[in-house]
Amino acid sequence: MSSNTVQSGVMTEIRQGQVSTLFRKTSLGFWGNLILAAIYSGLFAYLKPSIEDSTDNSYFYLIIWLVILVSLCLYRRHITNQFDPNEHRDPAQLVLWANKHILLTTIINTVWGVAGIVLVYNHVGNHFLIVSVLFSVLMLSIPVLAISKFAFGIQVIALLTPILFYLIRLYEQLNTGNFLLIPLSVIILAGTMLAVSGYIHRMLMELRDSQTSLRKQANTDTLTQIANRRYFDQTFKNEWRRTTREGIPISMLLVDIDFFKDYNESQGQRAGDNCLKSIAACMEVVTRRPADLAARYGGEEFAVLLPNTSMENAVMLGERLREKVESLQIPHPTSVHKVVTVSVGVSCCVTPDLDEEKADDEAEEVMYPAMLMNAADNAMFLAKEQGRNRVAEQKCGEQRLAQVLQKYAAKEASRT
Ligand code: GH3
Ligand code: MG
Ligand code: MG
Repeated sequence: MSSNTVQSGVMTEIRQGQVSTLFRKTSLGFWGNLILAAIYSGLFAYLKPSIEDSTDNSYFYLIIWLVILVSLCLYRRHITNQFDPNEHRDPAQLVLWANKHILLTTIINTVWGVAGIVLVYNHVGNHFLIVSVLFSVLMLSIPVLAISKFAFGIQVIALLTPILFYLIRLYEQLNTGNFLLIPLSVIILAGTMLAVSGYIHRMLMELRDSQTSLRKQANTDTLTQIANRRYFDQTFKNEWRRTTREGIPISMLLVDIDFFKDYNESQGQRAGDNCLKSIAACMEVVTRRPADLAARYGGEEFAVLLPNTSMENAVMLGERLREKVESLQIPHPTSVHKVVTVSVGVSCCVTPDLDEEKADDEAEEVMYPAMLMNAADNAMFLAKEQGRNRVAEQKCGEQRLAQVLQKYAAKEASRT
């Protein structure tokens, strides 16, 4: 049903918003990681007791570690900068982007976790330092919670498990009585973080759900429960941009109930409303593909958007819808057809196949969204004029296309 179309459309929008939010926060993640790495390396060197042992390789490890960490941070930044919220609208793509980001964050945090084993030494100052730096890195991963609690749990494990093992082993060896003090603090902090993360995640999800249902309400027609004009106009704009860019056809059906004023007058307003609901339910026969969208466009007028659909197929779908409404056999005594019927106006626009380099402005000159609507409206007028309960078609801006192509050819000729 079309209300599901609104639902999934809204879900995509929200998911896109989540990924955008996640990616907008990467600047913080990027600089935060670099600053923490600088602080840790500086203090690591400063606090380190003078080395007499010539086999000590820790400075060498530190440099390797820094190079790997900085490269990964730069790479993650490069990847996330490629995300364009207007381009990547496909739900599967959104999941892919989110996963890429989470995967890279996990790798970066694992590199930090490695520091908790390789880049520590037996010095209480160093232990406090590494633990607080690792927790700060964990804080920088909080935006991941916008996507998944599980992903955040992985960050906790990647960051803190190595240092925890290191500290427990070391303090056991030292056998100072209070040997579990620092490891215990790590466990308490990690537990608190995990509990709080569950809470934050729940809050974010509740917010998302209420946002989804609010937006769904704003985009749905209350009487028929299919999309409303607002949602239709917005989707139309996006689909128009997409189809013209990709050079694929886009079609539209305008559906108007015949003699509906008479129906209301003879059967009553309530019967009229029920009739609108029944006809809205018929829209599912013409909106089989995910990108198809049926909406209540005006009082007793519906509009159906059919991206990537030829005129021939759009007319076929219009006919299928007309038949479906007729087959409902809703009595309409004052109509010449004796049952409630609809007239359908069909239009289709195909982006002209112009030279790649110059295509953009020329195509824009030839095509604009109102043309599709106007053509469908004209077709509807024809259908009404020809006796109603029928489908009529009009191609979109053929004359205008011819004019512009002529101008284009003349321009080309003058160039050569
Ligand atoms: P035509 O065959 O030329 O389309 O004739 P028509 O009577 O259907 O056309 P017109 O546009 O004159 O009438 C539209 C009517 O639709 C007017 C109004 O009574 C009815 N209508 C519009 N919105 C609603 C609604 O929400 N509920 C009900 N019950 N009727 C509505
Ligand atoms: Mg009308
Ligand atoms: Mg009408």
